[in-house]
Amino acid sequence: MNIDLHSHTACSDGALNPAALIQRAVENGVETLAITDHDTVDAYRDLGPHEESVALIAGIEFSTQWEHTGIHVLGLNIDLDSDAIRTGVRFQSKARLERAQRIGANLEKQGIRDAFDGAARHSAGHYIGRPHFAQYLVESGQVKSMQAAFKKYLGDGKAGDVRQHWADLPQVIQWIRDANGIAVLAHPLKYKMTRTRLKRLLEAFVREGGQGLEVVSGKQLPHQTAGMAQLCAENEMLASCGSDFHEPGRVWAELGRFPSLPGRLTPVWERF
Ligand code: AMP
Ligand code: MN
Ligand code: MN
Ligand code: MN
Repeated sequence: MNIDLHSHTACSDGALNPAALIQRAVENGVETLAITDHDTVDAYRDLGPHEESVALIAGIEFSTQWEHTGIHVLGLNIDLDSDAIRTGVRFQSKARLERAQRIGANLEKQGIRDAFDGAARHSAGHYIGRPHFAQYLVESGQVKSMQAAFKKYLGDGKAGDVRQHWADLPQVIQWIRDANGIAVLAHPLKYKMTRTRLKRLLEAFVREGGQGLEVVSGKQLPHQTAGMAQLCAENEMLASCGSDFHEPGRVWAELGRFPSLPGRLTPVWERF
């Protein structure tokens, strides 16, 4: 079975609108898909009649932080109409706007003018994020590529890396649980933590009510999958997998194209 539980649309920082994303899922043989936009569920509201050959799992990817590291938590199989999701989305949307203003001010101090307005032009709806600042930086000729924009201005520890506005980890887990969803720690390898620190994060995550770990995130190497599978089993967590698809052309994050979960783990969809 081809199950992809992590993907983005243009409602956050993806390139495709929800209908086009679902079309691509069909073409790639995905049978079950979760759309997990950053801090928004607008994709589900925009969705008209769609291909019935794909089963949709309602999802979201909340931004938060743990011990000063920015981390992402997926809420899978959530009740979209719950008070908890409405509250969470409203809180994060306000936090995003305040954060974007701060990013704009920080970039201004680096000599980059009008970054907030420039980023806002590239953003749609409630989501304004660092990729929109990156687009503005490229468009205005400050840097040559999105990668360079993150490297110089927006990535870890740079002027545009503003984290303190998000709801904290216990809060985002609680919103997901209150919406009858399952909280899954997204792409654990992306945080570049030592194994010791990642273990501590997982302990805190489980203590707060988190249940799942994204053991497979896009195309990854066998030893990486084995390492995450071991952490998943040690903490008695549910295993999740997804591409983290944003746009066509990123070969390491193509919809439905990633290694399968090791068989000895309990897949998160058994609890849907
Ligand atoms: P934000 O939600 O504003 O914190 O933006 C985070 C998003 O920026 C991530 O979900 C990625 O899609 C994107 N991103 C993070 N790092 C990079 C990078 N080095 N190059 C390109 N995109 C990135
Ligand atoms: Mn993203
Ligand atoms: Mn993420
Ligand atoms: Mn993502």
